[in-house]
Amino acid sequence: MTADPIPFAAPTLGQAEIDRVVAVLGGPQLVHGPAATELEERFAARAGARHAVSLSSCTAGLHLSLLALGVGPGDTVVVPAMTHVATAHAVEYCGARPVFADVEATTGNIDPDAIPAVLDATTRVVMVVHYLGLPCDMDRIAPVADAAGVVVIEDAATALDATYGERKAGTLALAGCFSFYPTKHMTTAEGGMLVTDDDGLAAAVRQRKAFGYDKMLGERSRPGIYDVAVLGYNYRMSELHAAVGLAQLDRLDELQRARARNFAELAGYLADVDELAVMPGASGASRSSHYCLNVVLPRDRSLDRDEVMAEVNAAGVGTSVHYPGAVPLFSHYRARYGHEPGEFPVAEWLGDCSISLPVGPHLREGDPARIATAVKDAIAAVRTARS
Ligand SMILES: *Cc1c(COP(=O)(O)O)cnc(C)c1O
Repeated sequence: MTADPIPFAAPTLGQAEIDRVVAVLGGPQLVHGPAATELEERFAARAGARHAVSLSSCTAGLHLSLLALGVGPGDTVVVPAMTHVATAHAVEYCGARPVFADVEATTGNIDPDAIPAVLDATTRVVMVVHYLGLPCDMDRIAPVADAAGVVVIEDAATALDATYGERKAGTLALAGCFSFYPTKHMTTAEGGMLVTDDDGLAAAVRQRKAFGYDKMLGERSRPGIYDVAVLGYNYRMSELHAAVGLAQLDRLDELQRARARNFAELAGYLADVDELAVMPGASGASRSSHYCLNVVLPRDRSLDRDEVMAEVNAAGVGTSVHYPGAVPLFSHYRARYGHEPGEFPVAEWLGDCSISLPVGPHLREGDPARIATAVKDAIAAVRTARS
C-alpha cells in the first residue's frame, strides 16, 4: 500500500500568507500595527461581536477574561472534565480553583444537569467548551448560571463559525475565546482572539494583554511615557502573526466548506459501524464547525483504543485524541485536588476510548472513504486478534 499518508491536520498556507508576512517584514511596524487591527475588525464582523481583541493564544484570552472579571483566590470556576487543559489552567493562573463537571455522552459538552451540584457561594464563572466545534446547549446552561448569579465564558477554541440558532459560537455568553494554533480552523502559527459585546470587558482585556499600561502606543502624548495601572501580561499578537491570519480569513469560507463536506462524507461511511459512537455535527440548535470527526469505542473497554488507533495509523491515516484524559485526573490536578478515577465516567470514557479523525481542508477526494475503511479494518483486526 503506497497511498500518501493522510495527516490528522495540516495548515493550509500558501503564497498569500507568505506575501503578507514578507510585506510586514519590509515595513516599519512589527507589533501594535495595522495588521492586528484589521484582523480584529474583520474577525469581530464575522463573529457578529462588538469587540475582538487579538492575543498571543486562546489560553491568554481565557486567562484575561477571568482576570478582567476579578476572579482570584477563594473563587471557584466550573470547568468541564473533558477539555483541553488550557481551560482549567486559566483558572489556576488566577489563583482560583477549577471545579469539574462531567460531560454529556452524546456530545462531549458540559452536562447542564451536572452544573448545579458544583455551584456554591464561591462560584464566579462557568466556562463552557464547545467540544470539537459543537456549541453547548446554552438555553439550558444560561438559566442555571443566571439563577446562581455567575457569568458564562466560552472556550470556543475549536468552534470558529459554529452556530447556535442564529448566533455564532463566541457570542453566546459574556465573552468567547478562539485559538489560531496550527491545527485549528485558521492559524496564525500561535495566536488567539477574544470576542465580546461588553465594552468594559474588552477594555480590561486590552489593557492586561499589554502589561497594564494606562495608554497604548498611539495614545501617548509623549513617546515612551505611560503609567501602569494594573498588573498585565505580554499577551499581544505580532504583526507577522496577524498577517498570516488576514490571508487565512480571506479563504476561510472555502476552508470551512471543505470541512463540512469531509465531515458529512466520513460520518456517512461510519454511521453503520456498531462498535462506534460517532459524535454528531448537529444537535438541537447547535451546528458544528467540524473541527474533526470524533468516534468513540464501546464503554466496556472491550476494544483497546490505542490498539485500534495504531492500526488506523499503520494504514496511513493520522489521528488525534481529544483529549487524552479527564482533566481532573491529570497528575497536576489529581495531586492538587485529590480526584479519583470513577468520578467523571463520561469524560473518562472519552479520554480512554475516543479517536479523532481528520476532516480538514487538506483532505483530497477519496480520503474520507480511505479513512473509513482504515477504521473499519482496524476494528476488525483488533477483534480478530482478541478472539
Ligand atoms: C486548542 C485549545 C485551547 C488552547 O488554544 P491555544 O491557542 O493553544 O492557547 C484551549 N481550549 C481548547 C478547547 C482547545 O482545543
